[in-house]
Amino acid sequence: MLQQLDENKTWDMLIIGGGATGLGAAVDAASRGFSTILIEAEDFAKGTSSRSTKLIHGGVRYLEQGNLKLVREALKERGWLLNNASGVTRTLGFIIPAFSFTQKMYYGAGLKFYDILSGKLSLGATKLLRNKTIQKLAPGINKKNLSGGILYHDGQFDDARLAIDLACTAAQHGAVLINYCEATALLKTNQPAGKQSKVSGAVVYDSINDRTFEIKSKTVINATGVFADDILQMDNKGAADIVTPSQGIHLVVDKKFFPGNHAMMIPKTDDKRVLFAVPWHNKVVLGTTDTQIEDISDEPTPLHEEIDFVLEHANRYLQSDITLADVTSMFAGLRPLVRTKGVTNTSLLSRDHVIIVSLSDLITITGGKWTTYRRMAEDAVNNAIFVAKFPYKDCVTRNLPINSSQFDNINYDDELENIYSAGNIKKYVENEMAVSVEDVLARRTRLLFLDAKRAVTAAPLVAQHMASALNKNEEWIRLETDNFIQLSKNYLP
Ligand SMILES: Cc1cc2nc3c(=O)[nH]c(=O)nc-3n(C[C@H](O)[C@H](O)[C@H](O)COP(=O)(O)OP(=O)(O)OC[C@H]3O[C@@H](n4cnc5c(N)ncnc54)[C@H](O)[C@@H]3O)c2cc1C
Repeated sequence: MLQQLDENKTWDMLIIGGGATGLGAAVDAASRGFSTILIEAEDFAKGTSSRSTKLIHGGVRYLEQGNLKLVREALKERGWLLNNASGVTRTLGFIIPAFSFTQKMYYGAGLKFYDILSGKLSLGATKLLRNKTIQKLAPGINKKNLSGGILYHDGQFDDARLAIDLACTAAQHGAVLINYCEATALLKTNQPAGKQSKVSGAVVYDSINDRTFEIKSKTVINATGVFADDILQMDNKGAADIVTPSQGIHLVVDKKFFPGNHAMMIPKTDDKRVLFAVPWHNKVVLGTTDTQIEDISDEPTPLHEEIDFVLEHANRYLQSDITLADVTSMFAGLRPLVRTKGVTNTSLLSRDHVIIVSLSDLITITGGKWTTYRRMAEDAVNNAIFVAKFPYKDCVTRNLPINSSQFDNINYDDELENIYSAGNIKKYVENEMAVSVEDVLARRTRLLFLDAKRAVTAAPLVAQHMASALNKNEEWIRLETDNFIQLSKNYLP
């Protein structure tokens, strides 16, 4: 793929950013037959797309806000994604505990409506539950003052694994995808004075090989999430910021704190949001928060007040008393929310996606959710077809199978030597473009997000096998192990 950068070729579509949105756009464009190249500054899904709550959902909260259009669209996408990516997704039952008859009826009616909205793509009927059934299905829920509850269904997935599967699917359809390659400037056409110049590609820096390239393309899609303003300002220095980043954190604890196969949804936190406890592999993910922040970083870290907030709310609804010492990993992500005049509370900002076509024909797509990535990709590619006046080709992704990998469902209870065998590491390197220990421990497998201490234990072994696969020396092994240990501090409580 790197060799193709040396060919003096003009691509149909250049996609900047390898998160959910960019990878979805690469699958869409390549499967419609456009010559497609995607570049990612770090690793695929290094940003927000590996740090979600891992739910494929219509968004019960948006239903309460009255955003029926968003919920209906997301429920359709939920159904299609569960069908197309069955290797990395599943249907999950969610329990809402109720503390009065009125609450039970209110949430029961809302969730019934949520199910009706999903139509033929329903994942199972919403039911009212008695205390006894709740105790059977989710024995970890606090019984004090419990007045039954509601069972409804949504989807769950492994976000970074889906991202890698999308990258492989795009490649199968002929796209070129390169990680650790950052867009540092945009190329523009030379227009006669007074005429608007058009974007015609990008200058990219390959940080693995320390090389700079120019990629020429008829269209350029900016899918850089919270970094969208950087690219918009490469295009037009004076462009106003469109993204308001909002941080959300998750704490991961042992399954014993919330046993069973169901998730719990707390419908109203003190800041009027929702909070989830979701079983994931042999752990439980607790979150999330919604904190407006100023600094945009590719390695955001949880704030103390966010950690306290999640612990406080989880303990209120669970039987056990979870402390910081019980947390096996914690991670933070940044929502690329689109600014709305007059709205200062990020939890009230729309989760709809936005497409902006600049005067230069740069197409920017941001906002949205993982669940709606396919629809976002379809909209972005349709806009690219329009601005470049390409002959129209139908989008085919609604029923397009997404590559399923043997690594989509790893048993993390297994011995580290089995999970990280030389053979598996070779496949991560050769088939999934892993180039660092972090790539393997954070996104090809999810150990860093599940149990950061155990990931540190695995690091030297992973570095050793990677060095063989990549033909690296002892110095590389030492450096990679040290870098990973340093990074793991962000995930350790
Ligand atoms: C806490 C939290 C929980 C969430 N939970 C859910 C959930 O349960 N379900 C759901 O549907 N959605 C959820 N979301 C939303 C979802 O995760 C995001 O909408 C989605 O991941 C955004 O993807 P993206 O591709 O737009 O951005 P990103 O994943 O951030 O990808 C952008 C990429 O662009 C790259 N990039 C930046 N600048 C450059 C450059 N100059 N050159 C090349 N590459 C560049 C970055 O490195 C990054 O990898 C959650 C979000 C958060 C923060």
